[in-house]
Amino acid sequence: MQDGYRIVEWGVDPVWQTFEVGSPGSDEVLIQVEACGVGLTVLNMIRGDLADERAKLPRVPGHELVGRVVAVGTAVPRELVGRRITTYVYLYCGSCAECVAGLEDRCLRLGGYVGVHRDGGYAPYTVLPARNVIRLPDALDPVAATVIPDAVSTSVHVCRSRARVGPDDRVAVIGAGGGVGIHMIQVAAMYGARVAGLDVEADKLEAIEALGALPVMSADFAGLNARLWDSGPPTVVVDFLGSPDSLGWAMTSVGAGGRVVVLTTFRDLVAVLDPRLLVMNEASILGSRYATRHEVELAADFVAQGRVQPIIGATSGPAGVGEIHERLRTRRLVGRGALSWA
Ligand SMILES: [Zn+2]
Repeated sequence: MQDGYRIVEWGVDPVWQTFEVGSPGSDEVLIQVEACGVGLTVLNMIRGDLADERAKLPRVPGHELVGRVVAVGTAVPRELVGRRITTYVYLYCGSCAECVAGLEDRCLRLGGYVGVHRDGGYAPYTVLPARNVIRLPDALDPVAATVIPDAVSTSVHVCRSRARVGPDDRVAVIGAGGGVGIHMIQVAAMYGARVAGLDVEADKLEAIEALGALPVMSADFAGLNARLWDSGPPTVVVDFLGSPDSLGWAMTSVGAGGRVVVLTTFRDLVAVLDPRLLVMNEASILGSRYATRHEVELAADFVAQGRVQPIIGATSGPAGVGEIHERLRTRRLVGRGALSWA
């Protein structure tokens, strides 16, 4: 048996319960969770944004888990036992045309998400498909490594596959003080771009500046000049806020040949598109969804090499998780939060 948090009703904070530790099926692994990321996406998942069927409950949330494999099914190599790992968040099939092409984020037979359709890291043990396991260097700190499977990976996908960021680029990140944004500004710089981080809180702007990006107060998009640099407006705008104002600013501010990258999935949001501006600028609007498995491995390398610094504004044991949730809801957390089972 184990004690951990489970969602018992979608839209309500998870409840501390005692329940059984699962045993792995033939192609699964049992993971002892060492740490789990706590961010806005977990709150969205708990709210039922990605699935809200009653049949999926109770469910242990937490999709950014880091731990050690402690048991494997009969079809899984025994050498995985004892290894430090993280997990790919999407329950991809591994055999459809997109998966075979290495684009697991577009899996045509997606089985859902860790922490929504299978139990995640808000409990000390979980069982997951072996194909979702991604090896990490054993020396990597588990709490620091919780930024790898989503925050850093998502940023790598934006820079590498979607916007194809390079040394000629000027990248503006809207919502740069949040869990993904604070890693996005680092990854964009690593890919060679000049980077500006837009946010509204003083401590977030300080963190953005400390990481070498240009801090920009963005409380009022209507009054925000697109010319953030002497050399011109952004060539890439990455929007983590997803409001009509932020999307409007992104589309009117991006320079010639520019790319606007959208990552938010709010329902019923309508944004105005100016086709003339799009044509005159030869601009592109791009959706970006998570990362490929290979990009999660790259993200792990970048963190292990110290090229991307994990920014975790709050770490706590299980008793403090509710407080981290509250800081996220009120936008008072710089970077990611983390739950440590140590
Ligand atoms: Zn697939």
